[in-house]
Amino acid sequence: MQVIDNCEELFDFAQESRAQGLKIGFVPTMGALHRGHLSLVLAAKQKCDLVVVSVFVNPLQFNNPLDFERYPRDLAHDLSLLENSGVALVFSPSEDEMHPKPIQIGFRVEGISGGLEGKFRPGHFDGVANVVGKLFNCIGPAKAFFGEKDYQQVKVINRLVREFHFPIEIFVVPTLREVDGLAMSSRNLLLTPRARKAAAGIYAAFSFGRGLAIQNEPSDEVLESMTNILIDRAGGEGAQCKVDYVAHVRGESLEEISLFEDGSRFFIAASYDGVRLIDNIGVFDK
Ligand code: AMP
Repeated sequence: MQVIDNCEELFDFAQESRAQGLKIGFVPTMGALHRGHLSLVLAAKQKCDLVVVSVFVNPLQFNNPLDFERYPRDLAHDLSLLENSGVALVFSPSEDEMHPKPIQIGFRVEGISGGLEGKFRPGHFDGVANVVGKLFNCIGPAKAFFGEKDYQQVKVINRLVREFHFPIEIFVVPTLREVDGLAMSSRNLLLTPRARKAAAGIYAAFSFGRGLAIQNEPSDEVLESMTNILIDRAGGEGAQCKVDYVAHVRGESLEEISLFEDGSRFFIAASYDGVRLIDNIGVFDK
């Protein structure tokens, strides 16, 4: 496995691989890797000739400097996981390499970024589009792999690919969860033991909401019950819980809707003892 930190080498590696007729699968990450990330790598290995993974904590997508500072980082551990997963190349650039200063040009995401995370993290999806656009440009992958856990991000990436004509196929990989249903996330490393227990309330709320949706209960009452589950569970564990949103949206457009329908999804964003987690699930998914 090669590990490089500059764009020129990345560009050369990718160009040579493509010249040999190899299809590159690309998995962008912010490191502090877990099995969820590795499921993306596995999907990429299955569908491509070689896999490139980027490990870069992208400052442009953090609206909160403290969140950026304390985001977990462990490159040595990441590299050992990726080496064992049969990755061909890891790209781990510095901030200056990825975003030469001063930054004067950038993507601006509108519409699809208006609700959910976009509302609570202004500029977040601009930052995502900027870094993913640059990485797509340097690597020229045939396919790129993203997690359903960041569902709104997938929508943004699909739009980016379509509007800027990147010749890249986007694959979406299901969310990998812990035994109690908590979605795997790098941020889980930051949870206190009580917050970790309380955070299982997110999946409990989804399960409860799905049960009520099947009985066709009114969506606003369902969302209220789900919110109560988050708060009660956190209270029971003695953890602080701040709920940013519990939402029911149309899967395609992400607009909030009141009636359940095919493709409906629940979205939750909540902080536990100050660690902000997001998750989503298809209301009628099997
Ligand atoms: P991150 O390092 O958090 O930016 O995530 C990198 C990629 O891994 C994104 O496409 C995420 O959606 C995906 N990902 C994160 N957590 C999970 C998970 N639990 N299951 C599957 N994919 C995930």
